[in-house]
Amino acid sequence: YQTGIYSSLNAPIPLPPTNQPLSVAEYCISLLHSTSTSGATTFVVNATTGQTLTYSQFVSQVRSLAYCLQKRYSLSQNDVAFILSPPSLHIPVLYFALMSLGIIVSPANPLGSNSEIAHQIQLSKPAIAFATSQTSHKIPSLKRGTILLDSPEFLSLLTQSNIDNNTIKPVKVNQSDLAAILYSSGTTGRVKGVMMTHRNLIAMMAAIHHSNTTEGNVSDKPPQSVTFFTVPLFHVFGFFMLLGAVLSADTVVLMERFEFEEMLRAVEKYKITDMPVSPPLVVAFVKSDLTKKYDLSSLQMLGCGGAPLGQEVARQFNEKFPNVLLVQGYGLTETTGGATRVIGPEEAARYGTVGRLSENMEAKIVDPVTGEALPPGQRGELWLRGPIVMKGYVGDEKATAETLDSEGWLKTGDICYFDSEGFVYIVDRLKELIKYKAYQVPPAELEHLLHSHPEIADAAVIPYPDEEAGQIPMAYVVRNPGSSITEAQVMDFIARQVAPYKKIRRVAFINSIPKSPAGKILRRELVNHSVSGGLS
Ligand code: ATP
Ligand code: MG
Repeated sequence: YQTGIYSSLNAPIPLPPTNQPLSVAEYCISLLHSTSTSGATTFVVNATTGQTLTYSQFVSQVRSLAYCLQKRYSLSQNDVAFILSPPSLHIPVLYFALMSLGIIVSPANPLGSNSEIAHQIQLSKPAIAFATSQTSHKIPSLKRGTILLDSPEFLSLLTQSNIDNNTIKPVKVNQSDLAAILYSSGTTGRVKGVMMTHRNLIAMMAAIHHSNTTEGNVSDKPPQSVTFFTVPLFHVFGFFMLLGAVLSADTVVLMERFEFEEMLRAVEKYKITDMPVSPPLVVAFVKSDLTKKYDLSSLQMLGCGGAPLGQEVARQFNEKFPNVLLVQGYGLTETTGGATRVIGPEEAARYGTVGRLSENMEAKIVDPVTGEALPPGQRGELWLRGPIVMKGYVGDEKATAETLDSEGWLKTGDICYFDSEGFVYIVDRLKELIKYKAYQVPPAELEHLLHSHPEIADAAVIPYPDEEAGQIPMAYVVRNPGSSITEAQVMDFIARQVAPYKKIRRVAFINSIPKSPAGKILRRELVNHSVSGGLS
């Protein structure tokens, strides 16, 4: 660190030449073929229905679907396909078939409201949609219509025989073409449509491939990972993990509707080794007694990301599950889900860090007031640059210009700092800091402390308007069953551990904290409730 820029400490990973036409689908499938995996290996299991898909079935269905889409639906390259479905065996087939043809995939939350989905469709302007009989009513009529994934018609598209690569009209997909439009979580405002190129995803996949071939011993990854997806496939975390599973020839276990005990049962039944998770799930692992009912001994690694993970929770997790490696990663939809990650048990023992910058990445820590790039130890907004940084927001040039500068820096909106060894720490989001008098209070820090209380099942901290101080920190608390912890006890518990300006000055009890499907606290909902008096 001298120029104000932090660079990844790892050697760069070579990427394919930029001018070589290549889709991310082709990239992953060619790496799959280069592994020693047999076609009979299971790729996906739907734990809800028991259905499975082998790798050879997957590859042949991708071909068949690509052929039919080309032939029967007159889709053109760069058309957008909107996808609204719970997780199923069809989703990876759909993603790969569409991307191999240069059609842009745009999956959204099947539980989204009509107005949320209308907003997403307005942004991405799809030509066609893929939905189920449960979700199709939320989709307006589109140029090429809506195909139901649970119809016999769709099944027939998957099972055309005698299709080899020569039957499909070749499509030249450039790496600079869009592969996907994924939606941000809408935590800080309206959902944005993030334009992701094939190049962005190839860079992300190259990093996964690189870690498969170099970190095998460090993380004790078994040769065949069996990964349970607790994160949704429409969110960037699940999206890139699913593509990465293909090139690694891993087995993926899905569940149509996530339920904690069903998940534990699946871990035992399918001998799950790995899980991408969000922090609330780590909290559930720590706090739940149900974990004792199941044999979880196959579990080797939990990769946690998407929201802040409390140090105390991580510590309690390690105590309860000493044989499971809990590692954190940090990223945004705008960075194809990646940016930093923790590698191996030694780094995992450095509680609180999200690891070091990933290969090919650069960063700056920028003082939000002066614009100055800051040295290690000082907090500021994290800016990121590298091949995984998005092209921009679809249909929103203003937001794009505010987020991406002319030198390719992405402003993350997160307050972070580097330590002198290159480890990154996330303090909180710039927009969510509570402004108490002249001080800034990061709500995530107080939430982590609240989680460490044995009588508190869950908690969220928001700003509450105050005439004198501007804002005061207010906690929403979910009591554990049987607990009758009081407002005063909650405030006192925090007051004993923090500087006076960070004290919690108002408490309300509720039954559950509203969260997004990727495990983020929906603070805006609580803020609305707190000022309209809807809760308490
Ligand atoms: P929106 O941009 O629409 O308001 P969002 O930022 O929540 O929503 P995502 O792209 O899903 O949408 O999430 C990225 C954000 O998640 C990051 O900017 C950061 O605030 C948070 N985040 C991700 N990983 C971590 C992590 N390991 N620790 C703390 N925060 C994280
Ligand atoms: Mg964001």
